Amino acid sequence: MNLRDKNLYYVGGIVRDELLNKQSFDIDLTYVGNAIDFARNIKDAKILQINEPFGTVKIELDGEEIDIASTRDETYPQKGHLPQIKNIGCPLKEDVLRRDFTINAMAKSTQTGEIIDYAGGLKDIKTKTLRVLHDNSFIDDPTRIVRCLKFAIRFGFEPDEHTKQLQEEYLNNVNYDMSYKRLQKELKETFSLNSQIAFNKFVKNNIYKLLTPKTFNLPDINFEELINKYKPHNIWIIYAGQIPEIEKLPLTKDEKQIVEDYHNLQQKKYNSDYEIYKNFDGVKLESIIMYAGINYSVVINYLENLKKIKLQITGKDIQNLGINPSSKYQECFDFILRKKITNTKLTKQDELNLAKDFFKKSQSNGVCKNK
Ligand code: ATP
Repeated sequence: MNLRDKNLYYVGGIVRDELLNKQSFDIDLTYVGNAIDFARNIKDAKILQINEPFGTVKIELDGEEIDIASTRDETYPQKGHLPQIKNIGCPLKEDVLRRDFTINAMAKSTQTGEIIDYAGGLKDIKTKTLRVLHDNSFIDDPTRIVRCLKFAIRFGFEPDEHTKQLQEEYLNNVNYDMSYKRLQKELKETFSLNSQIAFNKFVKNNIYKLLTPKTFNLPDINFEELINKYKPHNIWIIYAGQIPEIEKLPLTKDEKQIVEDYHNLQQKKYNSDYEIYKNFDGVKLESIIMYAGINYSVVINYLENLKKIKLQITGKDIQNLGINPSSKYQECFDFILRKKITNTKLTKQDELNLAKDFFKKSQSNGVCKNK
């Protein structure tokens, strides 16, 4: 990025990541003053998007898309909800001091490369410390508790004692009138890291209380290992879906189904391989892995041994035996499946013979009609 100006600063994550020698996900630029007016005057820049009330602008310059925000201050008239923006174009100091942790509150001049550190972020980077900027930080925005966990896991940092104490105080007295959309965004980013340590801390440090006052015990298994081994598509929901009252979050239809199926699995019986197979067949891998926290051995038995068992015989094969399609087909498949689960070596011919036997018996009972 070649854009330089005495009022233009890199802020937040990008400054932190550069100091940590880590790759940054996005470039945050802040202009001390009105970023929209500034952008309009950049030679050769194409304005792509303007958000007047937020004072933000997206431009294209030399084939690169760049977001620039105006410095701004924020207040939290409704605790736990989106902040209200005030003082667009305020001094840089006010802009950085509204942020979550000292390590995210540093700026770097685009002109001189100087690091501006009003809150002690440089020292905290060195000591690997996560420190809030003021005592009301978690009351204003409780999602910062999850952000704290996320950064702790990503960078191997620890919150300082005072930050820990403020977190504990908040979790003992949670205000449930909060923005669950923001909470979900942070939970998703945290649990998508697939870290068992993150989940253990989330439970042991009572961070789950952000969602529910109900008690939740840590399942005694390692989900991280199961996820690495079986590679489910949606990682975060495997962790989050276990928390009581997760339905408060604005989950997708697919995620709601995964959680519902996980609850349904808990109502079933698992007395035989056949029952295990039938209970898990057609259920998403995510729900099955979640259920491992309740009954590890049946899940492993299914994923390692039973899941791969498939009948080779189809409805067409049964029709070719001269049997009219009816609900008896399903009974026949179940009959063969029971046999195949105890003897996986059965060939397609064996299955056809079993189907013949099945329908012969049914006929002699007078249930099934031949063509
Ligand atoms: P990541 O690498 O995950 O993108 P990031 O620090 O860039 O980390 P963002 O969520 O993109 O995180 O936020 C950009 C910056 O905005 C942060 O560095 C921080 O200064 C500020 N910020 C983000 N969320 C909050 C929050 N909930 N409260 C206060 N400041 C925040």
